[in-house]
Amino acid sequence: MLIRSLKALSAAVYSSALFFYATAISIFAALEKIHQYEAVIGLEVHAQLRTQSKLFCGDSTAFGAQPNTQVSPVSLAHPGTLPVMNKAVTELAVKLGLALQCTMVRHNYFARKNYFYPDLPKAYQVSQHTAPICRGGFLTLSNHKKVLLNRIHIEEDAGKSIHDLDEHFTYLDFNRAGIPLLEIVTEPCIHSAADAYDYLTQLRRLVRWLGVCNGNMEEGSMRCDANISIRLKGETKLGTRVEVKNLNSIRHVKLAIDFEINRLIELTENGKQIVQQTRSFDAEKGTTFSLRTKEDAEDYRYFPEPDLPPIFLSEAYLQSIQSALPVLPEALFQKYTGQFQLAPNIAQTLCADKEDADFFERLLQHTSSIKAAANWVVGPVKSYCNEHQVDLSNFPLSFSTLADLISLVESGKLSFGNASGRVFQTLINQPGRMPEEVAIALNLIQEKDEAATEAWVNEVMNKMPEKVKEYQSGKKGLMGLFAGEVKKLSKGKADMAVVNKILLEKLN
Ligand code: ADP
Ligand code: MG
Repeated sequence: MLIRSLKALSAAVYSSALFFYATAISIFAALEKIHQYEAVIGLEVHAQLRTQSKLFCGDSTAFGAQPNTQVSPVSLAHPGTLPVMNKAVTELAVKLGLALQCTMVRHNYFARKNYFYPDLPKAYQVSQHTAPICRGGFLTLSNHKKVLLNRIHIEEDAGKSIHDLDEHFTYLDFNRAGIPLLEIVTEPCIHSAADAYDYLTQLRRLVRWLGVCNGNMEEGSMRCDANISIRLKGETKLGTRVEVKNLNSIRHVKLAIDFEINRLIELTENGKQIVQQTRSFDAEKGTTFSLRTKEDAEDYRYFPEPDLPPIFLSEAYLQSIQSALPVLPEALFQKYTGQFQLAPNIAQTLCADKEDADFFERLLQHTSSIKAAANWVVGPVKSYCNEHQVDLSNFPLSFSTLADLISLVESGKLSFGNASGRVFQTLINQPGRMPEEVAIALNLIQEKDEAATEAWVNEVMNKMPEKVKEYQSGKKGLMGLFAGEVKKLSKGKADMAVVNKILLEKLN
């Protein structure tokens, strides 16, 4: 009996080992196949510009208004209406173009892109085709790779079709019709979903930094179409692409690209033809599905827009915008990690958006303790703002109060724990008070007096004679425990440099 079950057991082990082996081989083979291919990705980003009014008329661009309340006859394409160019749009386009090192097209003009769709009242979209405002340029990723840009052009947004309010009818909201967009188009030079993710993260930071676009993908202010194809490594010709439309989060872009790469490889491996297609992403399933076969440029019957004059960019105009550009996040990061010697993760946080960087820079006008100032901004200040959902611009303490707090800690009068804890709290509740006065009132000024410190040290050592013995027999790591106990006992008032000195004297 025992022998028989042992035999059965060994057979089972043997067959599962075989199964495991076979699975491993097939996974390995699949991986091997995937590695023979290279993904090629080009991204088109639509960024709504932060102008007060629309591209060709005075209608408001504010988000979230009642449907069809921001719609003049121009937005609705009533007969006889004519477009008038919004100058602020040109300025924002030039700003972004210069920040991305594009070549500015000094004489650029609009074209009509003809298609019929209910949310497009004119039955054509005014866009730029043969003469976009910017050509070329690039954006550097965190891994230092460069993503080359093909162009940036100006165009108008369409209205919004709402399909899920009624079973039988589609609703139309034209508030969005005519809102200015920049379309930022990369070359097909991205080769992984991770790089696409980083590109969008950097681009979003840049458009926000420049005040070009608010970058809110959930609200549709920034949208991305991802074009994806695959080819065998070493091949230089582009494969047939699919385009996944209107991805409304950076995470979705990454998921959709990974899904498509795998799908395209599988199709190819199974001997199937890839057809040029427009697809959509199903966020719930994490998959994509076909919307239509893709139209080509000829289908749009582009021709120059007769109702708008071309845009001329003078040298003086370009100069004036160039000289007003703020320091860009990459350069600031270099300065913080180089000249300021800040840790890369701290510098990264400070450069994540312009509001943070500006706050830090303003604080530096009140203190020369650069590292401490950086730690205060990314630490207590930002935590407070996150917790209470306030913008940095509404942070309740003044820069000079923060600077005073920093200098109390730097001079050893107050521990960082108490400064960022009880003193910070009290100041937030009573912003007019002075940090030092609060620290005195709360009895938190650090004790430099050796006698008082010695008393705390004695008390701690008497409380834990076992630990003292262990320390003396070689467990030097216990030093931290003793110091921590003294800190607790003194309620943070003990000056830790003095504590460590006395502890060492007593223990050894
Ligand atoms: P359209 O405007 O018709 O979508 P474009 O030629 O302007 O087409 O290209 C749009 C985007 O698709 C660009 O970012 C481009 O880099 C990318 N792209 C074009 N061909 C391919 C391809 N074969 N594989 C991946 N991306 C591609
Ligand atoms: Mg496209």
